[in-house]
Amino acid sequence: MATAAAPYRGRLAPSPTGHLHLGHARTFWIAQACARAAGGTLVLRDEDLDAARVRPEFAAAALEDLQWFGLRWDEGPDCGGRYGPYRQSERRDFYLAAFAELRARGAVYPCSCSRRDIQQALGAPHAGEEEPVYPGTCRPRPGMTPSAAPPGPGVNWRFRVPDGEVVGFADGACGLREYTAGRDFGDFVVWRHDGVPAYQLAVVVDDAAMRITEVVRGADLLLSTARQLLVYRALGLTPPAFRHTPLLTDEHGVRLAKRHAALSLRTLRDRGATPAGCRERWRDPTVS
Ligand code: GLU
Repeated sequence: MATAAAPYRGRLAPSPTGHLHLGHARTFWIAQACARAAGGTLVLRDEDLDAARVRPEFAAAALEDLQWFGLRWDEGPDCGGRYGPYRQSERRDFYLAAFAELRARGAVYPCSCSRRDIQQALGAPHAGEEEPVYPGTCRPRPGMTPSAAPPGPGVNWRFRVPDGEVVGFADGACGLREYTAGRDFGDFVVWRHDGVPAYQLAVVVDDAAMRITEVVRGADLLLSTARQLLVYRALGLTPPAFRHTPLLTDEHGVRLAKRHAALSLRTLRDRGATPAGCRERWRDPTVS
C-alpha cells in the first residue's frame, strides 16, 4: 500500500546580516510559489547564528521588506508555530543534540587548524566563498581513538567525508547533480571553536526538525547540498527535496550580494518601485 506523501512544507531562511535584495526576493518568491502550488505551508526561519554580523534591526527589516514584497508565511518568529522557536539563536539544544549524535557515531573529529574557512563556517558559502578542500591534517588515522574533548572552546569540529563517494541528487530546477566527496569538497566544519554550530549542521538540523519537504534556495548552494546530504545520512534523517534557483547578477555578471545596496528591497521601495515592477526585472537575469 502506498503511503501518502508528507504535506508540503517549504521555508524562507534569511540571515539578518544586511538588507535583503532583489535576488533574495526572487528566490523567496519562487519558494512561495512552490508552497502555494502544492497547497502547502511556508516557514520563515531567522538564521541569526553569526552574532558578529547579525543585527536585530536587519531581522526586523527583513520581515517588513518581505511582507512589502508580497511574501506571507504560516510559521515564523513573528507568528509562532508548532516547530519553533524560529530563530536559530534560540535553537542551541537541537544543534547540541545533533552534534552529540554525530560524535557518538564517529562522524566528526576535532581540528586545530586555523584557516580562513573556519572563520567562514557560520555563513552559507555563497558564490566565490567556497573553502579549499581540507587536506586532512587533523583527520584521525585508522586505529586512533576518537577524541574525548568536549565541543569548544579551542577546537573546530569537522565532518569526515567519504573520499571518492559520489553524492548525487535530482534537483528540482537543475536536474541531476553529482559531486565527489574529497575532490569537490572536503571535511567541513560543523562546530566552531567558539562554541557556535556551523551553517552546514544548523541548516540540516532545522530543516529536518521543521519537517521541511522541499528546500528552495540559490544555485550557489548546490555544493552545500552535497555536504548536507552526508549530514542527513549520518544523523539517520530523511533529506527533503531540493530546488536551486538561478542567481541574479549585476551588470558585471557578479552575483547580487548585500553590498549591492542600490538593489536592496528597501532602497527600491524608497525610490518608488513596486513589487510587480521588481518582478518584471527578473525576466532578464542581469539587473542594474
Ligand atoms: N541563511 C542562509 C543564507 O541566507 C540560507 C541558506 C539556505 O537557504 O540554506 O544564505
